[in-house]
Amino acid sequence: MARTGAVLPVALGALAACLGVALVTQPPGGVGDGFRGRQGAEIDKRAIEPLDVVRAPGDLGEQAFAHARTLVGFGQRHPGTPGWSKQLDHIETTLAALGLTVQRDTWTDRKERITFTNLAATIPGKRPDRIVLACHHDTKCTQGHADPEHNFHFVGANDGASGVALLLALAPVLKATPREATIELVFFDGEESLDWAWNDAARALFGSKRFVQKHRDAQLLGKEPRIAAVVLLDMVGRTDLHIQDELYSTRELRQLMWSAAVATGHQAAFCQRAEAAADDHKPFLDVGIPALDLIDLNGNPHWHKPTDTLDNMAPASLQKVADVVMTMLPVVERRYALRTD
Ligand SMILES: [Zn+2]
Repeated sequence: MARTGAVLPVALGALAACLGVALVTQPPGGVGDGFRGRQGAEIDKRAIEPLDVVRAPGDLGEQAFAHARTLVGFGQRHPGTPGWSKQLDHIETTLAALGLTVQRDTWTDRKERITFTNLAATIPGKRPDRIVLACHHDTKCTQGHADPEHNFHFVGANDGASGVALLLALAPVLKATPREATIELVFFDGEESLDWAWNDAARALFGSKRFVQKHRDAQLLGKEPRIAAVVLLDMVGRTDLHIQDELYSTRELRQLMWSAAVATGHQAAFCQRAEAAADDHKPFLDVGIPALDLIDLNGNPHWHKPTDTLDNMAPASLQKVADVVMTMLPVVERRYALRTD
């Protein structure tokens, strides 16, 4: 993913810092709901909706951390590496052990000559409309770049493994509870930019772009229920967790995330700063599907650095995100999947 639009002048930034004010990006025009890829306005933190708290099991953070340890043990996991293959197998066997059917979508990008694989598994609910819970499984390739500073040993503990690990740990919990909407767990490949720079996702988001295109094609043929909303987990395990108010995400979903953070007592780790981040939710937003990115990018010193290791992750952080997701999810199901318009 990529930071975008940090445009405030240095002097204003310094003033903001002096005043203890969070430095934020300014939405163009100050309007927008995250649809069609526009940045929206920051959330209103005073608008807190009372929610029924749904806590994840107390050891879920530990379970997710154990998955992350396994994934990191596979080494680098960009497409074509042995670690990438092992990780796909780990995701598949973990979900299959729960009785879930895993769909592998493997394709070769003609231009890049790279073979990618998305994985998806469906947990049926009362309604066919789907809520997609997603992450990316590839890690940033940190070899072969022109700038020697971009070539280093990298295991992507948070950027990559944490989202996968949390989805795997959540899967049995989600499956054990009857759900209003169908939940689809999706593990995207090729999120990371092949160029070191983001370059407006010209060579990134391969998996999510393909997923959305296939979904659109299937819907045109009447072959697939609609995707009602998307919740994306990316970099959700840092010890000093801070899930930003990500400004591309649908504002209504960001407000809901904030309410869930307050309800669960985890608000210190959420929405203390606001910034847009281009990520796998963008292709969904671009076709009008509401989407939320739970991402810890703003102020994260380990992003695409050798220090993105398990040492800088904590089970307690994964637990907090799990609590917020579990608390939000029933509301997302009711509000989006049961909507008839
Ligand atoms: Zn990354």
